[in-house]
Amino acid sequence: MNKNRQIFSYFLLPITCFLLVLTLGFATPAPALELYGNFKQGGLVIGHEDPGFEAFLDNIPLKVGPDGRFVFGFGREAGPVVTLRIVYADGKVSEQTFDIEARVYDIERIDGLPPKTVIIPEEEKIRREKETAMVRTARAGSSNDLDWAEGFIFPAEGRISGVYGSQRILNGEPRWPHFGLDIAAPVGTPVMAPAGGVVRLAEEDFLLEGGIIIIDHGFGVTSTLMHLSSVEVTTGQRVERGEVIAGLGATGRVSGPHVDWRINWGPVRLDPALALDMDALEF
Ligand SMILES: [Zn+2]
Repeated sequence: MNKNRQIFSYFLLPITCFLLVLTLGFATPAPALELYGNFKQGGLVIGHEDPGFEAFLDNIPLKVGPDGRFVFGFGREAGPVVTLRIVYADGKVSEQTFDIEARVYDIERIDGLPPKTVIIPEEEKIRREKETAMVRTARAGSSNDLDWAEGFIFPAEGRISGVYGSQRILNGEPRWPHFGLDIAAPVGTPVMAPAGGVVRLAEEDFLLEGGIIIIDHGFGVTSTLMHLSSVEVTTGQRVERGEVIAGLGATGRVSGPHVDWRINWGPVRLDPALALDMDALEF
């Protein structure tokens, strides 16, 4: 062994290794990705990573805030898996696949009913189409507000009288599942904004929903509150979490006074009960 090789082995090699480890250590971003929420059907998930990256959920680009926060959610039948891809500014890619927990929904079968009556009377169809379009437009907004990241509260005090995902099968015919969280209370009980945002729809008298308010919490996340007895806000108005915006009622198609609260991520219908329950996820 010549002298140079000896020096390399005894002295330079350990230093080279040390520097290499140091360099790699700094070049690889620390695993700073944080996720909060529920990887369950109906679940809402909030993510954060140091700014300077792009995020994709099953190849769909997610909107990322200037502070590195982003949000996504899962529908009633989502799953069985979903892939979250983070592409860093230096070109590094982190890809993680998550199982979406399947849920068992309340299914109620009622047979022997008289033949079904028409749900929407013919003369109301044009009105109904217009209302449905207004709801769709209100939920399609995607402001840059970060109110969705501040957490949600119950919009009213009362008894839970209906849950997300439940479905009735009448005379063997499955009906549209229920996507809201129903809170029953006396007419006039204050209804609060479950999170801050901008009012995108405020109407007193929709055919099925009665009094309805849709709040845009930013990044495609909206709350819908229905069957209101009074609507105390107007379209375009900013509201804060906990602010009284309406009175609870029994307007529209209902069997009793309650507020039906829905959360959407764009067109995806989420479970408000899961949005109220947002612990940090551990992997
Ligand atoms: Zn309901």
